[in-house]
Amino acid sequence: MRTVLGKEDYLEYYNRVLEKLEHEKDFVTGLDAATGDGDHWANMYAGFKKLTDSSEELKKEDLSGLMKRCGMLLMSGIGGSSGVLYGGAYISASKVLADVSEIDLETYYKMLETMLQSIMSRGGAKPGHKTMIDALDPAARTLRKLLDEKKPEQEILEEVKSAARQGAESTKTMQAVFGRAVYQADKGEGHLDPGAVTMAYQIEIMADMFIDKANKIQK
Ligand code: ADP
Ligand code: MG
Repeated sequence: MRTVLGKEDYLEYYNRVLEKLEHEKDFVTGLDAATGDGDHWANMYAGFKKLTDSSEELKKEDLSGLMKRCGMLLMSGIGGSSGVLYGGAYISASKVLADVSEIDLETYYKMLETMLQSIMSRGGAKPGHKTMIDALDPAARTLRKLLDEKKPEQEILEEVKSAARQGAESTKTMQAVFGRAVYQADKGEGHLDPGAVTMAYQIEIMADMFIDKANKIQK
Protein backbone atom coordinates (compact mmCIF):
# COMPACT_ATOMS: atom_id res chain seq x y z
CA MET A 1 0.00 0.00 0.00
CA ARG A 2 1.51 3.34 -1.03
CA THR A 3 -0.64 6.30 -0.08
CA VAL A 4 0.16 9.64 -1.69
CA LEU A 5 -0.95 13.19 -1.07
CA GLY A 6 -1.28 15.83 -3.76
CA LYS A 7 -1.73 19.57 -3.96
CA GLU A 8 -5.42 19.53 -3.08
CA ASP A 9 -4.65 17.50 0.04
CA TYR A 10 -2.15 20.13 1.13
CA LEU A 11 -4.76 22.86 0.84
CA GLU A 12 -7.11 20.71 2.93
CA TYR A 13 -4.27 20.19 5.43
CA TYR A 14 -3.92 23.94 5.98
CA ASN A 15 -7.66 24.16 6.67
CA ARG A 16 -7.42 21.35 9.21
CA VAL A 17 -4.45 22.96 10.97
CA LEU A 18 -6.32 26.26 11.16
CA GLU A 19 -9.36 24.48 12.60
CA LYS A 20 -7.23 22.73 15.22
CA LEU A 21 -5.62 26.04 16.17
CA GLU A 22 -9.07 27.60 16.52
CA HIS A 23 -9.97 24.89 19.06
CA GLU A 24 -6.73 25.24 21.02
CA LYS A 25 -6.56 29.03 21.21
CA ASP A 26 -6.72 29.40 25.00
CA PHE A 27 -4.51 26.40 25.69
CA VAL A 28 -1.66 27.46 23.37
CA THR A 29 -1.91 31.13 24.32
CA GLY A 30 -1.66 30.09 27.97
CA LEU A 31 1.47 28.03 27.30
CA ASP A 32 3.30 30.93 25.66
CA ALA A 33 2.06 33.30 28.36
CA ALA A 34 3.73 31.03 30.93
CA THR A 35 7.11 30.65 29.21
CA GLY A 36 7.27 33.45 26.62
CA ASP A 37 5.33 36.54 25.57
CA GLY A 38 1.92 34.97 24.89
CA ASP A 39 1.80 35.52 21.13
CA HIS A 40 2.61 32.05 19.78
CA TRP A 41 -1.01 31.07 19.14
CA ALA A 42 -1.73 34.39 17.42
CA ASN A 43 1.44 34.08 15.33
CA MET A 44 0.62 30.54 14.15
CA TYR A 45 -3.02 31.37 13.54
CA ALA A 46 -2.12 34.42 11.45
CA GLY A 47 0.31 32.33 9.42
CA PHE A 48 -2.06 29.48 8.63
CA LYS A 49 -4.91 31.91 7.98
CA LYS A 50 -2.72 33.50 5.34
CA LEU A 51 -2.29 30.07 3.72
CA THR A 52 -6.00 29.26 3.68
CA ASP A 53 -6.83 32.77 2.42
CA SER A 54 -4.34 32.26 -0.41
CA SER A 55 -5.73 28.91 -1.61
CA GLU A 56 -6.81 30.24 -5.05
CA GLU A 57 -3.34 31.60 -5.68
CA LEU A 58 -1.67 28.44 -4.27
CA LYS A 59 -3.75 26.16 -6.50
CA LYS A 60 -1.98 27.56 -9.56
CA GLU A 61 1.42 26.35 -8.34
CA ASP A 62 2.93 22.87 -8.61
CA LEU A 63 3.77 21.16 -5.29
CA SER A 64 7.24 22.66 -5.05
CA GLY A 65 6.00 26.14 -5.97
CA LEU A 66 3.17 25.80 -3.47
CA MET A 67 5.59 24.96 -0.67
CA LYS A 68 7.89 27.84 -1.58
CA ARG A 69 5.01 30.31 -1.76
CA CYS A 70 3.72 29.02 1.61
CA GLY A 71 7.18 29.54 3.10
CA MET A 72 7.12 33.17 1.99
CA LEU A 73 3.57 33.65 3.30
CA LEU A 74 4.48 32.06 6.65
CA MET A 75 7.61 34.16 7.00
CA SER A 76 5.59 37.35 6.71
CA GLY A 77 2.42 35.96 8.30
CA ILE A 78 3.64 34.27 11.46
CA GLY A 79 6.09 36.90 12.70
CA GLY A 80 8.22 36.28 15.77
CA SER A 81 11.03 33.75 15.79
CA SER A 82 8.78 30.93 14.66
CA GLY A 83 7.85 32.86 11.47
CA VAL A 84 11.42 32.89 10.23
CA LEU A 85 11.92 29.26 11.27
CA TYR A 86 8.73 27.97 9.60
CA GLY A 87 9.23 30.15 6.53
CA GLY A 88 12.76 28.85 6.05
CA ALA A 89 11.66 25.26 6.69
CA TYR A 90 8.92 25.38 4.05
CA ILE A 91 11.24 26.99 1.51
CA SER A 92 13.79 24.21 2.13
CA ALA A 93 11.06 21.58 1.78
CA SER A 94 10.09 23.07 -1.60
CA LYS A 95 13.48 21.96 -2.92
CA VAL A 96 12.76 18.33 -1.98
CA LEU A 97 9.59 18.58 -4.06
CA ALA A 98 11.21 19.73 -7.29
CA ASP A 99 9.91 17.34 -10.00
CA VAL A 100 7.68 15.54 -7.49
CA SER A 101 3.97 15.41 -8.29
CA GLU A 102 2.77 13.51 -5.24
CA ILE A 103 4.00 12.97 -1.71
CA ASP A 104 4.40 9.45 -0.34
CA LEU A 105 5.79 8.61 3.10
CA GLU A 106 9.37 8.45 1.82
CA THR A 107 9.05 11.97 0.37
CA TYR A 108 7.30 13.14 3.52
CA TYR A 109 10.29 11.87 5.52
CA LYS A 110 12.65 13.86 3.28
CA MET A 111 10.52 16.96 3.83
CA LEU A 112 10.51 16.55 7.62
CA GLU A 113 14.25 15.95 7.71
CA THR A 114 14.96 18.98 5.51
CA MET A 115 12.67 21.15 7.63
CA LEU A 116 14.40 19.94 10.79
CA GLN A 117 17.87 20.72 9.41
CA SER A 118 16.69 24.15 8.25
CA ILE A 119 15.22 25.01 11.68
CA MET A 120 18.33 23.78 13.49
CA SER A 121 20.74 25.68 11.27
CA ARG A 122 18.72 28.91 11.36
CA GLY A 123 17.88 28.91 15.05
CA GLY A 124 20.89 27.07 16.47
CA ALA A 125 18.77 24.87 18.76
CA LYS A 126 19.15 21.11 19.04
CA PRO A 127 16.93 18.31 20.36
CA GLY A 128 16.49 18.67 24.12
CA HIS A 129 16.55 22.49 24.07
CA LYS A 130 12.79 22.82 24.65
CA THR A 131 11.64 24.03 21.24
CA MET A 132 9.49 22.89 18.31
CA ILE A 133 12.44 20.66 17.38
CA ASP A 134 11.53 18.33 20.26
CA ALA A 135 8.32 17.32 18.46
CA LEU A 136 9.75 17.32 14.93
CA ASP A 137 12.95 15.35 15.55
CA PRO A 138 11.38 12.25 17.20
CA ALA A 139 8.67 12.19 14.52
CA ALA A 140 11.27 12.25 11.74
CA ARG A 141 13.43 9.61 13.51
CA THR A 142 10.41 7.32 14.01
CA LEU A 143 9.28 7.71 10.40
CA ARG A 144 12.78 6.83 9.10
CA LYS A 145 13.10 3.82 11.40
CA LEU A 146 9.71 2.31 10.58
CA LEU A 147 10.09 2.94 6.84
CA ASP A 148 13.41 1.08 6.99
CA GLU A 149 11.70 -1.74 8.88
CA LYS A 150 9.03 -1.80 6.15
CA LYS A 151 6.19 -1.62 8.66
CA PRO A 152 2.63 -1.20 7.37
CA GLU A 153 1.73 2.42 6.63
CA GLN A 154 -1.05 2.62 9.19
CA GLU A 155 1.28 1.49 11.97
CA ILE A 156 4.02 3.90 10.86
CA LEU A 157 1.59 6.82 10.88
CA GLU A 158 0.20 6.04 14.32
CA GLU A 159 3.75 5.74 15.70
CA VAL A 160 4.79 9.03 14.08
CA LYS A 161 1.80 10.74 15.70
CA SER A 162 2.62 9.39 19.09
CA ALA A 163 6.33 10.27 18.72
CA ALA A 164 5.40 13.90 17.98
CA ARG A 165 2.93 14.00 20.86
CA GLN A 166 5.35 12.43 23.34
CA GLY A 167 8.13 14.70 22.07
CA ALA A 168 5.99 17.74 22.80
CA GLU A 169 5.12 16.29 26.25
CA SER A 170 8.80 15.74 26.99
CA THR A 171 9.46 19.52 26.81
CA LYS A 172 7.67 19.88 30.16
CA THR A 173 10.69 18.74 32.13
CA MET A 174 13.25 20.51 29.92
CA GLN A 175 14.95 23.82 30.53
CA ALA A 176 15.06 26.20 27.58
CA VAL A 177 18.36 26.96 25.92
CA PHE A 178 16.87 29.06 23.09
CA GLY A 179 13.83 31.29 22.75
CA ARG A 180 12.12 33.56 25.27
CA ALA A 181 11.72 30.86 27.95
CA VAL A 182 15.45 31.31 28.64
CA TYR A 183 14.59 34.57 30.44
CA GLN A 184 12.28 32.85 32.94
CA ALA A 185 13.82 32.03 36.34
CA ASP A 186 12.88 28.36 35.92
CA LYS A 187 13.79 28.40 32.18
CA GLY A 188 10.29 27.17 31.51
CA GLU A 189 10.74 23.95 33.49
CA GLY A 190 7.37 22.49 34.44
CA HIS A 191 5.65 23.98 31.37
CA LEU A 192 5.15 22.56 27.90
CA ASP A 193 6.87 24.45 25.10
CA PRO A 194 4.15 26.06 22.94
CA GLY A 195 6.13 25.67 19.71
CA ALA A 196 6.57 21.95 20.32
CA VAL A 197 2.84 21.59 20.98
CA THR A 198 1.81 23.33 17.73
CA MET A 199 4.45 21.39 15.79
CA ALA A 200 2.95 18.14 17.14
CA TYR A 201 -0.52 19.27 16.00
CA GLN A 202 0.76 19.73 12.47
CA ILE A 203 2.50 16.35 12.36
CA GLU A 204 -0.56 14.58 13.77
CA ILE A 205 -2.86 16.25 11.26
CA MET A 206 -0.57 15.37 8.36
CA ALA A 207 -0.47 11.73 9.51
CA ASP A 208 -4.28 11.76 9.67
CA MET A 209 -4.36 13.12 6.12
CA PHE A 210 -2.44 10.03 4.96
CA ILE A 211 -4.63 7.72 7.07
CA ASP A 212 -7.86 9.23 5.74
CA LYS A 213 -6.60 9.05 2.17
CA ALA A 214 -5.68 5.37 2.59
CA ASN A 215 -9.12 4.61 4.07
CA LYS A 216 -10.84 6.43 1.22
CA ILE A 217 -8.93 4.40 -1.37
CA GLN A 218 -9.72 1.10 0.38
CA LYS A 219 -13.47 1.83 0.37
P1 ADP B 1 8.58 34.48 19.78
O1 ADP B 1 9.42 33.58 20.62
O2 ADP B 1 9.39 35.38 18.92
O3 ADP B 1 7.53 35.19 20.59
P2 ADP B 1 6.63 32.52 19.02
O4 ADP B 1 5.99 32.82 20.31
O5 ADP B 1 5.72 32.52 17.84
O6 ADP B 1 7.82 33.52 18.74
O7 ADP B 1 7.31 31.10 19.05
C1 ADP B 1 7.86 30.56 20.21
C2 ADP B 1 8.31 29.15 19.90
O8 ADP B 1 9.33 29.17 18.92
C3 ADP B 1 8.92 28.46 21.10
O9 ADP B 1 7.93 27.84 21.88
C4 ADP B 1 9.88 27.45 20.48
O10 ADP B 1 9.26 26.21 20.23
C5 ADP B 1 10.20 28.08 19.14
N1 ADP B 1 11.58 28.59 19.10
C6 ADP B 1 12.06 29.72 19.64
N2 ADP B 1 13.37 29.85 19.37
C7 ADP B 1 13.73 28.75 18.66
C8 ADP B 1 14.96 28.28 18.07
N3 ADP B 1 16.09 28.97 18.16
N4 ADP B 1 14.93 27.11 17.40
C9 ADP B 1 13.78 26.40 17.29
N5 ADP B 1 12.60 26.79 17.80
C10 ADP B 1 12.58 27.95 18.48
MG1 MG C 1 6.01 34.26 21.68
